[in-house]
Amino acid sequence: MPSPIGHSLSGVLLYSLLEKPSHPFRPWQKLLPYLLIANLPDIDFMVYRAGRVRFVEDYHHAYSHSLGFGLVAALITYGVLWAFREKERFRYVLLAVGLTAVHCFLDLTNWTGQLFSPGGLPLLWPFGQQTFACPILILPGVATGKSPFDPVNLIGISSEFLLFGSSIALVWAYRAKRHDAGTMPNTV
Ligand SMILES: [Zn+2]
Repeated sequence: MPSPIGHSLSGVLLYSLLEKPSHPFRPWQKLLPYLLIANLPDIDFMVYRAGRVRFVEDYHHAYSHSLGFGLVAALITYGVLWAFREKERFRYVLLAVGLTAVHCFLDLTNWTGQLFSPGGLPLLWPFGQQTFACPILILPGVATGKSPFDPVNLIGISSEFLLFGSSIALVWAYRAKRHDAGTMPNTV
């Protein structure tokens, strides 16, 4: 599976694409929901680490990687933003479903994710029980339970920086070019 770094960088990439900020990491208040929701499906690891689930292999990549969880994430997002009187809460609700879908896509398209969950993810749960796997593998991914300096994890994290870092740089180079040409002013 991708590391939290990879999922977070995918959040930064989507933030740059959708919000059109004047800085890739600012304002942090707008970036924070992207980072949190991009990693939210892996909350099942926290349950595991709290000692409630003995065999993470049977649990990770299950219910939290599904449409049902995306809808729960959307409800939680709406509730939090409603409490803070955020006016754009409906947009963030759509974003919560979208970021959960992106998270699942990334988990499906890396080598260690495939090894971890060879049966695939229950993407339609609770509306369907079938699982889905992807034959196209893009990222190497990382291995849980190993040191960050393990060769597998070093390769996995480096490729995440390479893929998402270059994508973010491309978005910013394109935006800078449009901005210089005066056709696309910064909005945030
Ligand atoms: Zn995941």
